[in-house]
Amino acid sequence: MKISEFAGYGDKMEQLMRSVQAGRIVHALLFVGPHGSGKRTMARLFTQAMVCASERRPCGVCPACKRFLAGSHPDVHTVRPEKKSIGVDEVRALIDALALRPYEGGRHIAIIEQAEKLTPSAQNALLKTLESPSGDCMFFLITDAPGALLSTIVSRCQTVRFSDLSVEECARVLEGRGIEPARAAQLAGMAQGSVGRALETDGDGDFHALRERVIASLEALRVRADVAGAAAALEEDKGREGEMLDVMELWARDLMAVQSGAAPYQAAETSRLQRSKLDGSALLKGVLLARMQLGSNVSWPNALENMYFNLTDSGLIRR
Ligand SMILES: [Zn+2]
Repeated sequence: MKISEFAGYGDKMEQLMRSVQAGRIVHALLFVGPHGSGKRTMARLFTQAMVCASERRPCGVCPACKRFLAGSHPDVHTVRPEKKSIGVDEVRALIDALALRPYEGGRHIAIIEQAEKLTPSAQNALLKTLESPSGDCMFFLITDAPGALLSTIVSRCQTVRFSDLSVEECARVLEGRGIEPARAAQLAGMAQGSVGRALETDGDGDFHALRERVIASLEALRVRADVAGAAAALEEDKGREGEMLDVMELWARDLMAVQSGAAPYQAAETSRLQRSKLDGSALLKGVLLARMQLGSNVSWPNALENMYFNLTDSGLIRR
């Protein structure tokens, strides 16, 4: 993939790339955006383009590209939390490595993933390096929670904001990766425009089966007497409450869209959504309440039954 082909960000990144090549750039880039929005992919693509030795960067076939893709380029340093956090020792080891002359004559590139996991002392150690930039080193800090970073770190970086794509753009990106169009549209809708989440979901056949069980369970609700059976259908999925509630929440939002005449995210499910007897906003309320109840130690079966009783009592638009 070429940088210019990166959906949503290609032009901006091409500009940044030209600045880097012309030597006009702050030496730290902070990529901020939700999980799955392309921050890490872009940082890696950008890095590969910087180390690539050919004219059309990144070429993917030159020795430098191959070393990068194999994770063995000596001038590319990736730091990610191995445990809960990234500690000061890991940052010091990185700084030591950056102090050596770059092997391939260009510059060092450090990629710090999940930068919000840097401990305060690790951030302070990093700050010293960011405050006295040297020309042969460039940093990428990647995070979905920039509020966890010291403001002094943020102010040393040029921030690039990533967001989820539109569902249509996301589907196009997925098609570009060889996923057939109907499936791409379905995945993009379920992931609400997040390429990363869509790709995670794509490989997860289990998730599709779970999603289908959850939606079928919702569709079975008509009267109070249906609650026990509908809830029991999800009993075996204990431990996946979060995923089930995510499915329900997206279903609720799409019901609300369809019931107000708008287009749902999950366009492939439009006729099923239109046939639903559940009121979208009642379901959404139920999901939010269930999340709260789970957070305060109500068991999943109880939270689910509460939600279903509320829905059959007052959350149906028709029976
Ligand atoms: Zn190359």
